[in-house]
Amino acid sequence: MHYTAPLKDIRFVMDALAGLAEVQALPGFEDAGSETVDAVLEENARLAQEVVAPLNRTGDVQPSTWADGEVTTTPGFKQAFEAYAQGGWQGLQHPPEYGGQGLPKLLAAACNENLHAANLSFALCPLLTDGAIEALLTAGSDEQKSLYVPHLIDGSWTGTMNLTEPQAGSDLSLVRTRAEPQPDGSYRLFGQKIFITYGEHDMAENIVHLVLARTPDAPAGVKGISLFLVPKVVPDAQGGLGPRNDVYCASIEHKLGIKASPTTVLVFGDGKGDVGTGAVGYAVGEINRGLEYMFVMMNAARFAVGVEGVAIAERAYQQAVAYARDRTQSRAVEGSAAAIPIIGHPDVRRMLMTMRALTEGARAVAYVGAGARDIADHHPDAAVRTERQAFFEYLVPVIKGFSTEMSLEVTSLAVQVHGGMGFIEETGVAQHYRDARILPIYEGTTAIQANDLVSRKTVRDGGTVAHSIIAQIRATADELREAGLASVAEGLSAVADAYEAIVSYLLDNARDAVRDVFAGSVPYLMFAGYALGAWQMGRAALAASQRVADGDTDGFLAAKIVTARFYAEHLVPRALALRAQIVEGAESVLALSDDAF
Ligand SMILES: Cc1cc2nc3c(=O)[nH]c(=O)nc-3n(C[C@H](O)[C@H](O)[C@H](O)COP(=O)(O)OP(=O)(O)OC[C@H]3O[C@@H](n4cnc5c(N)ncnc54)[C@H](O)[C@@H]3O)c2cc1C
Repeated sequence: MHYTAPLKDIRFVMDALAGLAEVQALPGFEDAGSETVDAVLEENARLAQEVVAPLNRTGDVQPSTWADGEVTTTPGFKQAFEAYAQGGWQGLQHPPEYGGQGLPKLLAAACNENLHAANLSFALCPLLTDGAIEALLTAGSDEQKSLYVPHLIDGSWTGTMNLTEPQAGSDLSLVRTRAEPQPDGSYRLFGQKIFITYGEHDMAENIVHLVLARTPDAPAGVKGISLFLVPKVVPDAQGGLGPRNDVYCASIEHKLGIKASPTTVLVFGDGKGDVGTGAVGYAVGEINRGLEYMFVMMNAARFAVGVEGVAIAERAYQQAVAYARDRTQSRAVEGSAAAIPIIGHPDVRRMLMTMRALTEGARAVAYVGAGARDIADHHPDAAVRTERQAFFEYLVPVIKGFSTEMSLEVTSLAVQVHGGMGFIEETGVAQHYRDARILPIYEGTTAIQANDLVSRKTVRDGGTVAHSIIAQIRATADELREAGLASVAEGLSAVADAYEAIVSYLLDNARDAVRDVFAGSVPYLMFAGYALGAWQMGRAALAASQRVADGDTDGFLAAKIVTARFYAEHLVPRALALRAQIVEGAESVLALSDDAF
């Protein structure tokens, strides 16, 4: 099934909601003019549609394979990655001094959405490399930056994130991989990591593993975790490839979805390479501050996984619409001479509108987050930088948690629109459903995102960011009322009232009724996702109606206003229902003893 990059919505969201013009005016983005943005989006759409998307189904039926420690990726992936690397895509958002193009994260988010929509399995490799680049730029030494980052940017090397171990998943304080200091200042690593995405593959000549491990005298828990760089092949000072390191891919997993993405078990220090026993590694930043640095990488990756949710939802929506136009079944409820295309049945429209509204709302929230991040990184005024950074950080768990959860609903609805054919693999829509299932799990499950949203992002600052969002939602509701968009305005006002009540409840009870608060943490995350989506769809309706008033007759704008109304009338009620779960629902969640289950 063909994929078409939704450039019209992407461009609308960038301009009208995510503040592209403000981003373009920031120091450092002089080269990111509108012509460049358009050209990049067009070229990216071409790569996604013509080179990467056709390999999506191939990857599902011919996944990566493992033999003797080597991984062979799906036929065509290597060539597609070459095209990706040669096009300079990996460097899009990274600094020019290391070979990147230094373009806004907002633009990168749009490009990544298209790449993920085209092929989730393929796009994971660049996603992790982006995270590795960010971590090295944040915490790496000058020497590490100049030796590794240019290779990661030009695609000759790729990056991984090595956190998970059999006994350490959500809880990284349990990491046991050992890093032993060597007289020359380097380390030797011993241990096993599991579930490492693209931990081994044949698309690049080297792999840069960023690994969480403990030094021998490290304190217990998260305070004793350090970050190490472990190259698959140890480079010399000029970046020439030297001996094979002692890190070995013991196997790859057989999975429900994203089958082409190799999910590897990596063994460090088994004596299998050319460097003796122990994988040669280098500390990144200071010892025992690894988790802090990894958070930089995780924030980038969590945001990117949220964008994966938007992407797979868009892909599934497109496929469902195409099928609904094509499939003829049943006469119209109001009567018709013959059976009609199913897109004419009210319930099919309900499904398509739900998919469309969820996807557009989540896209808007994600891009607004990316725009905020650009301002946080580049604005000349420190107070603005701090405020935008706090806003971005509040959004990250919501973007990650909500967009990925909603992608399960959207991909499931896409199967439903297809009827029995949805359950049949040849249609390809079942693959989106299976592929999406990992998104709320990796990079921190939805519960872990929700814990972050409650404690670090809401309670720790006394609700400051949440209250400023609520005030902005109220302001948008007022503007909508003035513009005559009554149902959207009423929906937003109700959301703002509920948001206030929920945040007060969290702040009042976080200390003395902590279990109650966390019984409602995922419902709070979902509430925030709907509330932020409703807010952005309200802003979208305002911008669209302004353009219509200015004489723009593009049907896209009228459709945007209808979609915003649908959001307010059909999805906002879901948000409002969550309030009772959060504020009054804890008792029954927690009442049963463990034995009673
Ligand atoms: C395909 C795939 C690719 C992956 N890629 C990578 C990678 O590249 N690098 C990497 O390091 N890891 C990777 N992972 C690992 C992934 O990040 C973990 O699986 C994930 O963080 C969950 O950890 P876990 O599997 O140990 O589950 P657990 O931590 O055992 O969680 C099980 C359940 O308990 C819940 N739970 C746990 N703790 C809490 C809590 N404090 N509060 C509430 N609920 C809780 C979880 O939400 C979940 O529902 C990958 C996994 C998969 C399947």
